[in-house]
Amino acid sequence: MKIDGKTKLTGIIGYPIEHTLSPVFQNAAFKKVGLNWVYLPLLVRPIQLGSAIKGLKALNFVGINVTMPHKREVIKYLDELSPTVRISGVANTILFKKNSLVGYNTDGQGFVESLKRNVKFSPRGKNVLLIGAGGAAKSIAVSLALAGIKRLVIINRTPERAQRLQRLIHDNFPRCIVKVLAANDEKIVSLQSESQLIVNATSIGMLSNPGLPIGMENIGRKHLVYDVIYEPTETQFLIDAKKRGAKTLNGAYMLLYQGIASWQIWTGQSAPVAAMTAALEAQRRLKGAKNNGKSQPTVRKNPDRI
Ligand code: NAP
Repeated sequence: MKIDGKTKLTGIIGYPIEHTLSPVFQNAAFKKVGLNWVYLPLLVRPIQLGSAIKGLKALNFVGINVTMPHKREVIKYLDELSPTVRISGVANTILFKKNSLVGYNTDGQGFVESLKRNVKFSPRGKNVLLIGAGGAAKSIAVSLALAGIKRLVIINRTPERAQRLQRLIHDNFPRCIVKVLAANDEKIVSLQSESQLIVNATSIGMLSNPGLPIGMENIGRKHLVYDVIYEPTETQFLIDAKKRGAKTLNGAYMLLYQGIASWQIWTGQSAPVAAMTAALEAQRRLKGAKNNGKSQPTVRKNPDRI
């Protein structure tokens, strides 16, 4: 990679940031299309978020991704918001224009794109069971509603948060039926069996937060089970769902497609999807090798552009 006085700057801010996989496939994309751009991981403590945004602007950054814990807080520093950021209150991408900072949310878009690309699942008219009501769940709920799902059932440990998400979807997408259920509600059996897509958008299943987000009794062959977690590659939720005959997908695909959408916002060009996929795949294989040789499933290659 050549860095010189003309190199344009992009990156990702978060706290912590060491775990991020985004630089690998974002930089691979710049290289593939011959852009003299670079994507950097940047550690930003919550208390320094405002100064960091000001500094990035002063340093002429073209754009950045925003990850935990800044996705909500960053909005107050932005001048314009995309419709999905306005509705969800969550931003993961910023474009530094000459006179304004524009916020986008490509997380939900990445989620829906991965459904279409990886498993040919069209959300239109479908019933969805969503576990979680945090930032990822909000982004996913808004994008699924935009994509025309028929019904959304939300389950969350903190019911008030689920109810807030219910109101948000109801107010913005009145045609989408939204319900909130407690994990032990007996209606869950029928609602789950009528759902085509079941999504874990909580952090349950991460190495630091093991376990299952819901009981597995009613999960079976007719379900597509999606876990937004990509580390570990297969959470216990996906392992058990697969054993019960469900189709499964992990969060690596959401990560990839949200990154592709961000790249396109910054560059104004179609992203080299195949190169980005290959770079992520290689990195994950490398990580798999480091993790005691445990194998990592591949990210499906698709040379098309989005
Ligand atoms: P968040 O805003 O902090 O929300 C966390 C969610 O998990 C909340 O619904 C929370 O419930 C629930 N939760 C956490 N620990 C729990 C426990 N022990 N028992 C029950 N519920 C629990 O975080 P987020 O940004 O939404 O992230 C959630 C997950 O999505 C993380 O694993 C993150 O890495 C992943 N993610 C993946 C991608 C991707 O591209 N694949 C993108 C974004 C996020 P309460 O409301 O009750 O606290």
